[in-house]
Amino acid sequence: MPNLISHFIGGGLVAGQSGRTSPVYNPATGEQTGLVPLASTAEVREAVAAARHALPGWVATTPLRRARILNRFLRILEERTDELAAVITAEHGKVLSDAKGEIQRGMEVVEFATSAPQLLKGEVTENVGTRVDSHSLRQPLGIVAGITPFNFPAMVPMWMFPVALACGNCFILKPSERDPSASLLVAEWLKEAGLPDGVFNVVHGDKEAVDAILTDPDIAAVSFVGSTPIARYIYETAARTGKRCQALGGAKNHMIIMPDADLDQAVDALMGAAYGSAGERCMAISVAVPIGEKTADALMAKLEPKVRALNIGPGTDPDAEMGPLVTAQHLAKVRGYVDAGVAEGATLVVDGRDFKRQGYEDGYFIGGTLFDNVTTEMKIYKEEIFGPVLAVARAPDYATAAKWINEHEFGNGTAIFTRDGDAAREFAHQIQVGMIGINVPIPVPMAFHSFGGWKASLFGDHHMHGPEGVRFYTKLKTITSRWPTGIRAGADFVMPTMR
Ligand code: NAD
Repeated sequence: MPNLISHFIGGGLVAGQSGRTSPVYNPATGEQTGLVPLASTAEVREAVAAARHALPGWVATTPLRRARILNRFLRILEERTDELAAVITAEHGKVLSDAKGEIQRGMEVVEFATSAPQLLKGEVTENVGTRVDSHSLRQPLGIVAGITPFNFPAMVPMWMFPVALACGNCFILKPSERDPSASLLVAEWLKEAGLPDGVFNVVHGDKEAVDAILTDPDIAAVSFVGSTPIARYIYETAARTGKRCQALGGAKNHMIIMPDADLDQAVDALMGAAYGSAGERCMAISVAVPIGEKTADALMAKLEPKVRALNIGPGTDPDAEMGPLVTAQHLAKVRGYVDAGVAEGATLVVDGRDFKRQGYEDGYFIGGTLFDNVTTEMKIYKEEIFGPVLAVARAPDYATAAKWINEHEFGNGTAIFTRDGDAAREFAHQIQVGMIGINVPIPVPMAFHSFGGWKASLFGDHHMHGPEGVRFYTKLKTITSRWPTGIRAGADFVMPTMR
């Protein structure tokens, strides 16, 4: 019998009432393991009501006390990483070591948020005018929501809620319906750490729940991570309903390999960045751009045998380097892209379409796939595949490669491998992408910096976590004060200026 998954509202598990559900699978076996409820608008309202009830108390809780709760939560995460990783692997399919890696990156944001008293310190100027002082402070927005994708069921929610909670907001999480269980563990552990009921709620669902969030008059802001068409829809709708919004979308990340690069290092980096987590990462490298034919030939000679030798298996196999894709539909979509690449005339060097793992024939596996001679007009170059498919696009020179990257629809991450400081500096300076790696293939900023792409990879003004996260989840208030001296100066009708 599949496990019946619940919402988490007002500090406890709440069964779904809408009558609508969605199946959850173990991607390694194809077996249906769960049934997730899809919330109705009324159920989202219930979570909002719980948050509204909790909000005054949470706003009044000192930042130091909020930080202490997050500190206890951090310790629980540390102690129970294995338990959470097992839940992620069971529903997402990624290998356990990778699941632990995403938890670690999420924990770093919790760690950042434990500095709440420091993060919320304002600014003061004495004597902005004679005997007049000004101070600025940041106050919580109120109730905020996070809508998250399947590919990081623990880390991406943790990009959002630790900072939101530290700043004094109540949070409603709408996780991906494809791997919903990690969010429930997180909710229970936050409660165990001392978070008051209603401050953090989880509502499962699909478009109906998302639309209920976007139109709810009591929700002040929405953070979204997912594909670009949905990110654009979220941003436009949130703008129309007057909500603050940050909506992170898809990606197509290029890695330039300069002729002077350490090729072995570049190839190892490329293997992890293209095939780790079966390519289901928004910062995965999906296009390798070797500069010049000689570099390209040498790169392909080293890359091909490594792609063929990838160890692919269930996420629970400690030797597996890459697990299955998340669902049968996603597998069909990725296979469709490989078919399209062949039809468009790219050279299919390693074909993963027929991969089978003994004992796991019903799992959603595809082998590592490698294309050479990919051109910028091809669908497999233009679109995000989100699978273990690496496209090699040969560029005659650096300028052409940089032009391709700058002209691409997406601008999430990119990397250059080189020994030339001048080329690296030029790249960092002029490339139109939000996150840049120099001899670093997946330049995901640490928790105390902020994460976000450019162009169709992010709609909104603020990146996630770090200082940008604090700005997103707070509103600025500036107070100007003068204490009367006892002598009335009379009314002043001109624009206030410094005196
Ligand atoms: P998705 O867009 O299908 O889903 C994301 C969220 O939106 C889920 O919670 C889902 O329930 C909801 N949703 C789906 N369809 C909707 C609709 N029609 N209306 C309203 N809500 C809807 O994305 P996914 O497949 O879960 O995740 C993969 C995508 O996320 C990739 O494109 C990847 O690049 C992107 N991603 C981006 C980043 C980043 O930082 N930019 C990070 C992780 C993932």
